[in-house]
Amino acid sequence: MATHPRAPGPAPDEDWRALDEAAAAARAWLSGRRDRPVPARVTAEEVAGALGGPVPEGPSDPADVVDALAVAAEPGLTTMNGGSFFGFVIGGTHPAALGADWLVSTWDQNSALRTVTPAVAAVEDVAARWVLDLLDLPRGAALGFTTGATTANLTCLAAARDAVLERHGWDVSRRGLAGGPAVRVLVGEESHTSVQLALRVLGLGAPERVPADAAGRVRADALAEALDAPPDGGPSTRPTVVVLQAGNIHSGAFDPVAEAVEVAHRQGAWAHVDGAFGLFARAVPALSHLVTGIDRADSWATDAHKTLNVPYDCGIAVVADPTVLRRAMGAPAEYLVADDAGDPYERVPEISRRARGVPVWAVLRSLGRSGVADLVEGFCRHATDFAAGLSAMPGVEVLNEVVFTQVCASFGSDERTRGVVSGVLADGATWMTGSRWHDREVLRVSVCDRATTSAHVDAALDAVRRVLAGMPAGDGPLGPQ
Ligand SMILES: *Cc1c(COP(=O)(O)O)cnc(C)c1O
Repeated sequence: MATHPRAPGPAPDEDWRALDEAAAAARAWLSGRRDRPVPARVTAEEVAGALGGPVPEGPSDPADVVDALAVAAEPGLTTMNGGSFFGFVIGGTHPAALGADWLVSTWDQNSALRTVTPAVAAVEDVAARWVLDLLDLPRGAALGFTTGATTANLTCLAAARDAVLERHGWDVSRRGLAGGPAVRVLVGEESHTSVQLALRVLGLGAPERVPADAAGRVRADALAEALDAPPDGGPSTRPTVVVLQAGNIHSGAFDPVAEAVEVAHRQGAWAHVDGAFGLFARAVPALSHLVTGIDRADSWATDAHKTLNVPYDCGIAVVADPTVLRRAMGAPAEYLVADDAGDPYERVPEISRRARGVPVWAVLRSLGRSGVADLVEGFCRHATDFAAGLSAMPGVEVLNEVVFTQVCASFGSDERTRGVVSGVLADGATWMTGSRWHDREVLRVSVCDRATTSAHVDAALDAVRRVLAGMPAGDGPLGPQ
């Protein structure tokens, strides 16, 4: 093979000391994250004060820039990956994924086209194949790497919309939505807000909400009834999409997907599953009862940056029929060098993007099948321990049956629960979210970080006890009402 003449050594202006600064700052962050308070210690305005001001008039040394950034940002960072963060649903950071992510930035590959960037296309293909295998989804499905589950839901629901309209003789790509048959979309009462956002963006408006049970699972009988009899009295044979959920952010509960998919398919509807953090239950044999039959759906959205502990950002969109996804997301253009095998940009709403599937490959290569199962089972075990610890505290009620990684607790009155939430945040040893579920204020615990150990759970429970000890007794003026 011919070798190409290259410039001898780096040009004088190419100085990569900025990377050494970044590596040093990264090490400092990672080694200090177990000891520093979890919440940020300064406000956004304070960080802006240190890093803002007018546009710099001229150049400065890249290494100094990275150093200044690391120093000024540090107090404004929340320690989300140190083992003691249990807010929202936020994944931790696996070292193989982080290292791979650095390479993704370093290589700076525009990952749209297979023939142009064969290495990252190959690695993402392997990652896709491994994900389908681990989650036991149809092996012929198409998989795209998105920024998150919000975009993954959007991607899948775009495919769903186009497919159900196509079946009714309406080509959205040519004619748009106006004048076409109205698409019915049914979601569980507790579906995630990102599903509604995706539907809005797709021009499908607000979905019909189907009643859920006490755990937040959509009721299959209610779904069947709604499908049989549209509220406006129109025909039940309209183009229809049903959105199901694997993993409720409050209870962790899973919709009865097998039954619901069957009900949806009986009516010719498309069945989509939002499994942002819950879909990875499919990788755990002991949790199979939660996700049986989920592979019979038509599309699935999940996140690698949650349960799989890949750094932000990485979501995953899977559509069983690859031609449907390609029709929805493809953007044919003469200047793009198309590959017969299909190109990555045809599976997501972006053309240029970073190779965010590469960290997924790395974490799967490092953990293997058993490592992924152990990771998820560990989250569940810690969640169960949280529930046991909270229930043992006087006046505390755990409101959900813990089947996965989420715990919701009430401390009596709404006011008292809110007091506990703000007390825990002020304490700083741990970080949990307050929320409202089934008309009650709750403290919501989500376990999603590989760094979490039993010691972190115990320390977090101690923090809750400390806060409770500092509050008026439960039967006092703030007691249950
Ligand atoms: C987090 C989440 C989403 C949105 O995912 P992003 O990664 O934040 O875009 C959607 N659905 C559920 C159930 C989630 O937990």
